[in-house]
Amino acid sequence: MRGLWMLLVLVAAARADERVFIGDQVIRVIPESEEQIQLLQALETQEEWEVDFWLHPVSTELPIDIRVPLSSHSAVTEFLHQHNIHYSILINNLQELLDEEKAEMQRNQMRERSTKSFNFGAYHSLETIYSWMDTLVAQYPKLISKQEIGRSYENRPMYALKFSTGGDKRPAIWIDTGIHSREWVSQATGVWTANKIATDYGTDASLTSLLNTMDIYMLLLANPDGYAYTHSNDRMWRKTRSKNSGSVCRGVDPNRNWDAGFGGPGASRNPCSDSFHGPSAHSEIEVKNVVDLIKSHGNFKSFISVHAYSQLLMYPYGYTCRDIPDQPELDSVGRAAVQKLTSLYGTRYKVGSICNIIYQASGGSIDWTYNLGIKYSYAFELRDTGRYGFILPASQIIPTASETWLALKHIMEYVRDHPY
Ligand SMILES: [Zn+2]
Repeated sequence: MRGLWMLLVLVAAARADERVFIGDQVIRVIPESEEQIQLLQALETQEEWEVDFWLHPVSTELPIDIRVPLSSHSAVTEFLHQHNIHYSILINNLQELLDEEKAEMQRNQMRERSTKSFNFGAYHSLETIYSWMDTLVAQYPKLISKQEIGRSYENRPMYALKFSTGGDKRPAIWIDTGIHSREWVSQATGVWTANKIATDYGTDASLTSLLNTMDIYMLLLANPDGYAYTHSNDRMWRKTRSKNSGSVCRGVDPNRNWDAGFGGPGASRNPCSDSFHGPSAHSEIEVKNVVDLIKSHGNFKSFISVHAYSQLLMYPYGYTCRDIPDQPELDSVGRAAVQKLTSLYGTRYKVGSICNIIYQASGGSIDWTYNLGIKYSYAFELRDTGRYGFILPASQIIPTASETWLALKHIMEYVRDHPY
């Protein structure tokens, strides 16, 4: 009895500074006119109702997903009714999904502890992922090394896994996951993929030939502070955790912080916004660490950044809708990659430039890498298309990672076969 009481106290204590989303709904609007889009854009910039746009209002073809806190539910629905904007409910009570997610993580922790194994079909904390990385490196010392590329704002190490069979600064492929911390299937896909590369080297002829001439770098937790914060305090956290001078709001959107059209359309100057671009390009140490590594290495041929959700494969630019010179090539490689992805479970993806396929967004990583001369720069938005959004059930991790692998492998093989 006393044990149970203690447990309840511990649960309550653990939750004390954790943000709850009881009664929060995620609603979907398919805008019917340019006027409705403008109204929803105004809703996005007002702060009073604390709405959180999971998908932004951009065009009449694209859905807009909005998390509406319980406290502003009636205000928001009245606003929508007033303007004759129709909506449907995707998630009725967000906290219920979060509770399920947490319970599943706890069950998995116990299973992993008793079986002394790592379950790729589960979400894990930063500490667990970091210690798993050590296990992987120890298992494949001839193939994988762990490189600390720098520290985060809160002084967490940022580790890149380097897959290499030798040579000095061979042409290389970069893959990062989790730059937006709440997109959990991204990091989980990164973990699965790292393991896949390790286990397939030596058995998969194509991957083996690739690794005999090229290196692969993987940054699994590109935003470690944000990721830790999604576990400890706020599952919906997207940004870094840096302090903003003159504001109580923390964090910068690390994918609006790169020196490519920095501060332009599709990024916010408001430190409280989820797409705040930061005080200057590369102000975020997490971004700067990657920039420094990419520049000092000097031989990256492909840069792939993995996000969620929407099921898209995108290439530059985001900061302008102008076509890049390599548009036809990147588009056809992307389409072939997506065809492979779809072949596994039928998951549909769209392909296009960031600006044309979703919205104009400045300061993104793949625009910067493309301008640096890394031709094969791509960004993925993984599953799903909104049924669960950022709270994709763990049961979908392995299917997501498995299908994504087919696309990744296609891009990597193409890069190997088209040296430049
Ligand atoms: Zn993202």
